Amino acid sequence: MTNDLQSEDSTTALQVACDTEISGCVFLVRTEEDDRDRLLEITQEHVKEQHGEDVSLDEIEAQHVKTVEVEHGGQDR
Ligand SMILES: [Zn+2]
Repeated sequence: MTNDLQSEDSTTALQVACDTEISGCVFLVRTEEDDRDRLLEITQEHVKEQHGEDVSLDEIEAQHVKTVEVEHGGQDR
């Protein structure tokens, strides 16, 4: 376990944006890395309900999940 590489001021989060060819969708979810499963499920549900498409969790993970840096002390208080 080497957590000491990370700075204390930022952490890593997962982000999904539904920026497919479908215009007008601004769906965007960000969670902690631990919440990956939930993030995938939320996105899957969104795609099904809003776009009527069935996508697999693997597909979502491969195509839409991004890892982003989140800085603390700014907006989250
Ligand atoms: Zn969407």
